[in-house]
Amino acid sequence: ETIANQIAAGEVVERPVSVVKELVENSLDAGADRITVELSQGGITGIKVVDNGCGMSARDAELCFQRHATSKIRRAEDLNNILTLGFRGEALPSIAAVARVTLTTRTAGDLGGTVVHIEAGQIKEISPAGCPVGTTVEVRDLFFNTPARRKFLKSATVETGQVSDLMSRLAMARPDVRFELRSGGRVLFSSPGNGSLKDTAAGIFGTDNVRSMLEVNYQGRLLSLTGLISKPVLTRASRQYQNFFINGRYIRSGLVSSVLQQAYQTQIPAGRFPVAILHLTLDPTQVDVNVHPTKMEVRLAREKEVLEELLEALSKHLNLTGA
Ligand code: ADP
Ligand code: MG
Repeated sequence: ETIANQIAAGEVVERPVSVVKELVENSLDAGADRITVELSQGGITGIKVVDNGCGMSARDAELCFQRHATSKIRRAEDLNNILTLGFRGEALPSIAAVARVTLTTRTAGDLGGTVVHIEAGQIKEISPAGCPVGTTVEVRDLFFNTPARRKFLKSATVETGQVSDLMSRLAMARPDVRFELRSGGRVLFSSPGNGSLKDTAAGIFGTDNVRSMLEVNYQGRLLSLTGLISKPVLTRASRQYQNFFINGRYIRSGLVSSVLQQAYQTQIPAGRFPVAILHLTLDPTQVDVNVHPTKMEVRLAREKEVLEELLEALSKHLNLTGA
């Protein structure tokens, strides 16, 4: 079991940013609308995620460290209709296998909370705790028991940068949630959490840049699309300012990116790329997110049709607005 967890951890937990991703996704799945992440030394010595989500009962707080103890998938059919960010039940046991973890949690229905302390997969302590409703997960000394892994960690600055990028993407994915990233007592990033993608993006790309972007709003047969795309005059030399979300999940997609490029056609010079934040909503039964443990790649049923409709929607939008 310990070995299996360490192997699974290799797929899910590569570095601090992957721990933060899993923990914050759990917070989102728990319905939190306020999530704070605090890093020590880029997350190498400490990562703390505090949420105001639904919390866990004492029993669930203990169970959640067992592999595949997900509360999110009940039946095999559910795998074809995934509405939560997590579903594999691997993140917490994987993280706990390679670090020292303290979970503090309480549900609204319980008077008291629970604290669970676990190190290298071994539960060291479970006891009642006074705490607010929600969950706090503290991860210390990542890879303390797997030195070979620890070697691949970069400097605190580099690890912090990756977490900061992740937090921006999460904020764009969920403008209704207030995110905050702290390090060494300083706030590195925060999002307004007021539901506005425009306000959220302004905090990331700058108010002036976002003011000049086009708002996209499209409801179609296979997909609906909302977001912001830059006018052809505002382009960048790389694709790194393109952010795509499918059903609220950040994804990397060369295909979506090339469709976007196609929509701009001859309006932008070669080697330049539009800035974009695009939220695609598709029928969840048509999206397979179970391709890779990090779920950053997805497979689409009827991919060709979806991409055609996307191209049509984006092209029409760029024409309509006379950009
Ligand atoms: P998954 O997210 O795939 O279900 P995890 O290992 O990430 O698996 O988490 C295991 C379970 O622990 C979740 O299914 C959920 O029930 C519970 N859990 C984890 N984090 C939180 C949280 N922040 N708030 C409430 N419940 C949580
Ligand atoms: Mg999870």
